[in-house]
Amino acid sequence: MTDDYYSILGVPKDATQDQIKKVYRELALKLHPDRNKSKDAEEQFKKVNEAYAVLGDPEKRKQYDTYGPAGFGQRYSEEDIFRGFNFDDIFRDLGLNINFGSDFSGSGDIFSSMFGGARAQNRGRDILHNLTLTLEEVAEGTKKEMSIKHIKRCPKCSGAGNEPGSRVIKCPKCNGSGRINKVANTFFGRMQVVTTCDLCAGSGKTYERKCSACGGRGGVIDTEKVEVQIPPGVSDGMRLRLEGMGDFSQYGSGDLYIEISTKEHRIFRREGDDIHATVRVPFHTAILGGNITVPTLKGTKEITLDEGTQQGRKIVLKGEGIKRFRSNSSGDEIISIEIDIPTHLSREEKDIISRFRELDESTKGGGKKFRFF
Ligand SMILES: [Zn+2]
Ligand SMILES: [Zn+2]
Repeated sequence: MTDDYYSILGVPKDATQDQIKKVYRELALKLHPDRNKSKDAEEQFKKVNEAYAVLGDPEKRKQYDTYGPAGFGQRYSEEDIFRGFNFDDIFRDLGLNINFGSDFSGSGDIFSSMFGGARAQNRGRDILHNLTLTLEEVAEGTKKEMSIKHIKRCPKCSGAGNEPGSRVIKCPKCNGSGRINKVANTFFGRMQVVTTCDLCAGSGKTYERKCSACGGRGGVIDTEKVEVQIPPGVSDGMRLRLEGMGDFSQYGSGDLYIEISTKEHRIFRREGDDIHATVRVPFHTAILGGNITVPTLKGTKEITLDEGTQQGRKIVLKGEGIKRFRSNSSGDEIISIEIDIPTHLSREEKDIISRFRELDESTKGGGKKFRFF
């Protein structure tokens, strides 16, 4: 146990989470068994994944920094290290394959030892997709088409995994038990682990001939277009669930979660279901009153400003905000008035303002409310 996680990734001890993530992604692309078939790369890939499972998680990293490699190893089992860490998402994001079949010798072992082998038997994975909307789309709801890369039911074998027409037989790898005992080389030494048989995914059964389209997995990776109706009033961080749209599995397909975020708006700031904007008006309009045009989410609106409108005055446009989620009502638009004081005046304009000042000063009390002059 000589390597430490920082040197495995080649990052300094004070690296930020973003730096660590970036370096890890580069290494994963370089070392992934699909891309690099050397035995060394496979070993290194294991170590890099483990290092990232710790340093990429602020809580585990803190523990690791506190106790050092040896102390950390006493506190965390290999299973603990990978718990809560979803490499599927990371690899998917990088366009790398995680569903290794037996055609990649050895690489299946990496993942069965990394994930404890349990994943094979579970239902299909949930997928998280980030969707960024404009404030206008949030306000009214929208229909969005997105490309989702997921495992879909294999069209050739309809998800069963056998080459059409071939017989069911006892799995030769696990002899029908569905489980395999093996010794895994881990960062913490050799460990005896029981894993789910990767050949039959724990079912104990396999087919005479596997489906040639999916390699017996029952699913194939594909990018599909998904059209989603986004209801009005969604907020940042909200997740919409599309049942069964995640990864296909014979044990039940996962779900697709769409996580919402909103682009910053040029004019409006959202607060709950209300929107806020600042509108600059000429000082003479503020003094004398008059009509001004203000922006709304649907375009513009004309409103009347009272005579003597003060700086910072708030005007509420009822119902011009965001439609509330699962409700028929809407928030409001709140406009803050900012008075525009000119910085360059013509000779004539200056004369007029000077005359105004003289008048104001000569009628003490009367003109005091125009305090900005
Ligand atoms: Zn198939
Ligand atoms: Zn088996």
